[in-house]
Amino acid sequence: MKAGASPELFRKLPSVDELIGMPAVRSLTEVYARDSVVDAARAVLARLRQEITSGLLDDGSLKLALSGSAAAVEAQLRESLKYSLQAVINATGVILHTNLGRAPLSDSAIDHIRDTAAAYSNLEYDLASGARGKRDVHIDRLFQKLLYDGPPSESQPCVSTIVVNNNAAAVLLALNTLAEGGEVIVSRGELVEIGDSFRIPEVMTKSGATLREVGTTNRTRIADYEAAITERTRLLLRVHRSNFEITGFTEEAPTAELAALARRRSIPLMEDLGSGSLLDLRFVGISGEPGVLDSLHAGVDIVTYSGDKLLGGPQAGLISGGSDLIARLRSNALFRALRVDKLTYAALEATLISYVRRDHDAIPILRMMRATKEEIGRRAEELAKCIDSPKLKTEIVDGESLLGGGAAPSCVLPTRLLALAAEGTSTEELCMRLRACDPPVIGRVEEGRVVLDLRTVFPEQDATLASALSRIAA
Ligand SMILES: *Cc1c(COP(=O)(O)O)cnc(C)c1O
Repeated sequence: MKAGASPELFRKLPSVDELIGMPAVRSLTEVYARDSVVDAARAVLARLRQEITSGLLDDGSLKLALSGSAAAVEAQLRESLKYSLQAVINATGVILHTNLGRAPLSDSAIDHIRDTAAAYSNLEYDLASGARGKRDVHIDRLFQKLLYDGPPSESQPCVSTIVVNNNAAAVLLALNTLAEGGEVIVSRGELVEIGDSFRIPEVMTKSGATLREVGTTNRTRIADYEAAITERTRLLLRVHRSNFEITGFTEEAPTAELAALARRRSIPLMEDLGSGSLLDLRFVGISGEPGVLDSLHAGVDIVTYSGDKLLGGPQAGLISGGSDLIARLRSNALFRALRVDKLTYAALEATLISYVRRDHDAIPILRMMRATKEEIGRRAEELAKCIDSPKLKTEIVDGESLLGGGAAPSCVLPTRLLALAAEGTSTEELCMRLRACDPPVIGRVEEGRVVLDLRTVFPEQDATLASALSRIAA
């Protein structure tokens, strides 16, 4: 016990029952569950005990604290019932920030979730026949449109798409279905780890397939794949490197050649694309991200990709490929365990309809990618005007936004940054104050100062951001 913590003070604390018995506290049980009120009362008393132990309270201040104990219990109740998951302002400039929930959903996706989630729906019900239907139909019909340039033909066979919980699940399901008990050939340069413990060799083990590595880290030729094919080979796998690049003395087998080899030896070729864009992203200055169509056109039999990366939809794993292969995946018991709910189907369906309508600006991440450095700079200047004060200095500087989410690692988008400096305040302290705003503001530290990149801030959040920053400046 520290100096100043007197045993008499502890005796002046009410018991939990006494505290609950106070009329102002008892009336809280009319609004909140009794258990919650008891928990809150316990927390308030524990805090007072802690403060006495630390010598923070004397007789007078304890009396004052006790007179406000009903209000303290109510504040504690409110705090404990607040959402933990909450919206934040992403001012990091990282468009697909995995820690910040990757792609924000479009307005139509939110509306469609609301309409179908609050009511019953035809999730697995065929309205035409009045019989049981399949949940896949809602999105497969849209992928049919998006992944074809014309009617199915020999060079462009019929493609189906199914949805699972995320791309990791998609890879697991595909490997388990197509290669359990057999071997999968992968280049040593593609044995990747994608953030948060998705590692190709480990997923392979879980799937029951055996990894057969070929080539070297920097060079793998088509002959390496060919030499490794045995009667145990079930699948050739190509993995998009996503979050790193190999440069210098490198070689990899072109996908089309790999596809030709696979066809010659009657072994399917699968590609884990990771991001899987439905568009050619060169129109926003992003190259090196293979699109889903590019892979299918090159002859890949089955591709896996995320719903919440470059596609800009909800978290999901999408598997597109020949209808016969997809039918095998569908009938695997694992598919039932990995399938997604109606909220995901609703969000995905609405997102895909935006693609079908070519309304790309409806999709938030595509809008963010398309924003120009000049537009972002003008918004940063407006913001700076609202907050510049002797206490919070602002400067607008050139910088770079990132795609994030393990997509196009070396690809950056030029942007303008709002750099902040508060006198006598460290960058850590300033970041902490930004995170303490409501909603929390997440910036990044660059060259020893805090910078905000408005590329990932919705223009309608600018006013909220301005008032949060003005409070920090005051
Ligand atoms: C991101 C990524 C994954 C994992 O996708 P999730 O949807 O996060 O499960 C797997 N493979 C590659 C190549 C990726 O880029």
